[in-house]
Amino acid sequence: MTTTIGKTDNPLRVAIIGAGPSGFYAADALLKQTAYHVEIDMFDRLPTPFGLVRGGVAPDHQKIKSVTKIYEKIAAHPSFRLYGNVEFGRALKHDEFRQHYHQIIYAVGAQTDRKLGIPGETLAGSYAATQFVAWYNSHPDFRYLDFDLSKQVVAVVGNGNVAMDVARILASTYDELHRTDIADYALEALSHSNITDIYLLGRRGPAQAAFTNPELKELGEMEDADVIILPEEVALDPISQADMIAHPDPMVTKNMATLADFASRQPQGKRRRIHLRFLVSPLEIGGETHVENIKLVKNGLRLGSDGSVRAQATDQLETLPIDLVFRSIGYVGVALPGVPFNAAAGVIPNKDGRVFDPETDLTVPGEYAVGWIKRGANGIIGTNKPDSQATVNSMLADVPTLLPLDPHDATRESVEALLSARQPDFTTFDDWLVLDQHEISRGQEVNRPRVKFSDVDQMLKVLKEARTQDGPNQPVIPVTPAVVPTIVPVSVPNTMQATD
Ligand code: NAP
Repeated sequence: MTTTIGKTDNPLRVAIIGAGPSGFYAADALLKQTAYHVEIDMFDRLPTPFGLVRGGVAPDHQKIKSVTKIYEKIAAHPSFRLYGNVEFGRALKHDEFRQHYHQIIYAVGAQTDRKLGIPGETLAGSYAATQFVAWYNSHPDFRYLDFDLSKQVVAVVGNGNVAMDVARILASTYDELHRTDIADYALEALSHSNITDIYLLGRRGPAQAAFTNPELKELGEMEDADVIILPEEVALDPISQADMIAHPDPMVTKNMATLADFASRQPQGKRRRIHLRFLVSPLEIGGETHVENIKLVKNGLRLGSDGSVRAQATDQLETLPIDLVFRSIGYVGVALPGVPFNAAAGVIPNKDGRVFDPETDLTVPGEYAVGWIKRGANGIIGTNKPDSQATVNSMLADVPTLLPLDPHDATRESVEALLSARQPDFTTFDDWLVLDQHEISRGQEVNRPRVKFSDVDQMLKVLKEARTQDGPNQPVIPVTPAVVPTIVPVSVPNTMQATD
């Protein structure tokens, strides 16, 4: 089949829903290919771009955040536009995206938390780590949450990097946090925190932990927190030993060395203690109305039929008195209106990034997925680059099969006319650059990297004032748009218990 789609006078029009890393890497891959002339419109429901780089990466990991410089370069490409403060399914509906774009990429990430599925999970004082992370990172949807930091003892369930981030932020001193871009209200709340003990609870052993070594090491470098490990829980069992020989992994070797170092240290009598516990699974969170304790079962390890090392519950129980729980066992994707969804896995069903409908097992033409909504919530920021490239390869292969758009709809002007009617306060990438400058200036005043905006109305007010100062239609600094995922609580029962 021959097509004129992708010629200069009939560009391949692509909508990217979500302005996080996977969306930007998809845009980059499309802009770098030379077979087709493309026009990329990226949408985000927040006025600010960068998804989890802004709303997820820990505030004391400023170096990681500098990846946004790459995204800024992508956004500066003349074929790229950002439309922020535009929610998929609200301001523009699924059918309208199809009407205006040859191809749609869903890059919305995983916007809610995996549930433990144990009694007591909803008691006061039991929080999703994902909410805490979004709160301390100034996400507008979470800024009004209230975490009771007047309490002393915290359990963080899970052994991934989010659990490490949460433990580290809870254990940080005011000085450690002040030099970051943590939300100003979170800095204030955490500076008055009474927390003394933080228990990190891993259901498998240290050799199976999901955290990476730099994050583990950071726990041993806290200004005012000691790391405490039970020597028997960090000793390698025969199954782990055999697995480490059969599947050598430098990260595991490094983690074991770091843990051995921690175990050899004498506590320094610091104000806070981070207790690293392994081989324990929560069975129940206890308390009348508020969290009072967590009941744990001690696990052993066994080899699963697929060769993986799994937790195996024993009959040994333990009740740990605690005041708060942060459930940190992973993120889960949320369905988008009109788009197929696999609720069990929390992803958009896809083959090589091509969305398919599980009911018919047919591909949905012109619709694609990248990032966490494609593959689940795993991997680091860089993982998204090859992942997005793979989806773009599928998209490019499909171009000859695409149906033409109505020429009236196949323009940015027609999309902007719709937006002006439905969501006149949509924002651009240039608007983001204005907000960025404001945040940095606010930070300079108090010797911090930036002081973030967390309120959408405030952001829009700042932009309005900036436009007024510069006169109508005068972008204040260079302009571009952004998109962030919708946080719709979704209940995804996690039946994984101690033996999973
Ligand atoms: P994760 O890496 O998948 O870790 C989830 C943890 O929860 C695992 O330890 C898992 O144990 C445990 N878990 C799952 N179900 C459980 C249950 N029912 N009971 C007890 N424990 C349970 O998820 P994450 O920490 O949310 O991180 C998501 C992704 O973002 C990861 O790829 C992570 O590396 C990345 N990330 C990276 C950074 C960084 O680079 N600094 C920071 C934050 C996040 P099992 O292993 O036994 O399943």
